[in-house]
Amino acid sequence: MHDLQKKDLQYIWHPCSQMKDYETFPPIVIERGEGAYLYDVEGKCYLDAVSSWWVNLFGHSNKKINQAIAAQVEKLEHVIFANFSHKPAIRLAEEIVKITPGGLNKVFFADNGSSAVEVALKLSFQYYQQIGKPKKTRFVAISESYHGETLGALSVGDIDLYNEIYKPLLLKTFKAEGPDCYRCKYGQSRETCDAQCFEAMKAVIEVHHEEIAGVIIEPMIQGAAGMKIYSPIYLKKLQELCTQYDIHMIADEIAVGFGRTGKMFACEHAGVSPDIMTLSKGLTAGYMPLSLTLMTDKIYEVFYDDYLALKAFMHSHSYTGNPIGCAIACASLKIFQEENILESNLMKAACIREKAENLLKYPHVGEFRQLGMVGAIELVENQESKKGFDWQKRVGYQLYQMALKEGVLLRPLGNVLYFMPPYVVEEKEIDLMIGTAEKVIKEYFGYA
Ligand SMILES: *Cc1c(COP(=O)(O)O)cnc(C)c1O
Repeated sequence: MHDLQKKDLQYIWHPCSQMKDYETFPPIVIERGEGAYLYDVEGKCYLDAVSSWWVNLFGHSNKKINQAIAAQVEKLEHVIFANFSHKPAIRLAEEIVKITPGGLNKVFFADNGSSAVEVALKLSFQYYQQIGKPKKTRFVAISESYHGETLGALSVGDIDLYNEIYKPLLLKTFKAEGPDCYRCKYGQSRETCDAQCFEAMKAVIEVHHEEIAGVIIEPMIQGAAGMKIYSPIYLKKLQELCTQYDIHMIADEIAVGFGRTGKMFACEHAGVSPDIMTLSKGLTAGYMPLSLTLMTDKIYEVFYDDYLALKAFMHSHSYTGNPIGCAIACASLKIFQEENILESNLMKAACIREKAENLLKYPHVGEFRQLGMVGAIELVENQESKKGFDWQKRVGYQLYQMALKEGVLLRPLGNVLYFMPPYVVEEKEIDLMIGTAEKVIKEYFGYA
């Protein structure tokens, strides 16, 4: 073990990890990054096929973004955001309002995805308190939802691995069974789907709407659930029902925003405009923690009054609206335009599809699914039964280690191996990413 690894393990508690695992699989100490690649202290190179936890857009140590940071730090690193403002935040807010779905005209700043979700929930709750519908206190989420890991965000999450033990601490929320396209209970195919599964959500809303403030959803792809992709019809139906029953539709675009799904924002696939939208991850192209919660004027106005009416939204974080983060986000949006990113991603996405579909020939590859720059392979015991492997087998974890040896950072979610590379990948990197996935699958399952 490298000295740095020993020191790391002496002092550091890593996220989302059983630290005992690190005894046999110590942390990889990264020295530098360039484009889609990371280099460790021993010079070994890794292709970052998961965009460093879904945040990176234009590669590591991107020249244009590095320059934007250098220019900003020379002027202003940070300033209190209450009563004060600065150019990068103003520019960013104006740009974001322009490019997000219509009606989202006001922008609240925070500093990570979970905080943006907390802001969304608090706003929605307070809105109904202040318009005289105090019974609307609860939120609805769908099965296997993920919205972050602070207590409020966990409350609208439905992944046991993250929230089971904390349940006594969490808000009481409603869970509606969500779409499960690979194992569709309604016997539909992608072609015949009319989001029949929306019935479950409809039932919850029809019975409980008087108590419901908002429905929170990851549009188009449930990321942490294993890149579960579902029909835009579901979102259309959700928006209609939310409007009918005066419920906020909260779109959590933290993972799917900024071109991940092929559109700038995933809501565009369905042509829906939520009442509240959360953004983070790709917002700063993978450089800095920053997040935004956008909302309609209708919501904003319910908080707008004389101070003595005590209707203000008294939420804040110390690093709210950090100027360096905002300058990076502005630089990132500029890259989208200058380099025509959404269009060049079309070719890259097609390339991922073409190569990954080949893996369907292996009996343990149950499905390949893809939307834009997100592709996922679901591994199963066999294609007929679609039965997943027991979590105790830790199939994904072993594939992860095998792929790292090959120099590719693929980090499966349970039995789902996914590809979510930075947008700077070229065919060569796509080949390496999918070729390595194939190699480790063949090796693990012992195919000749
Ligand atoms: C990552 C994620 C979050 C939480 O963001 P953090 O910055 O990790 O707190 C919330 N919602 C979704 C959909 C995410 O993917």
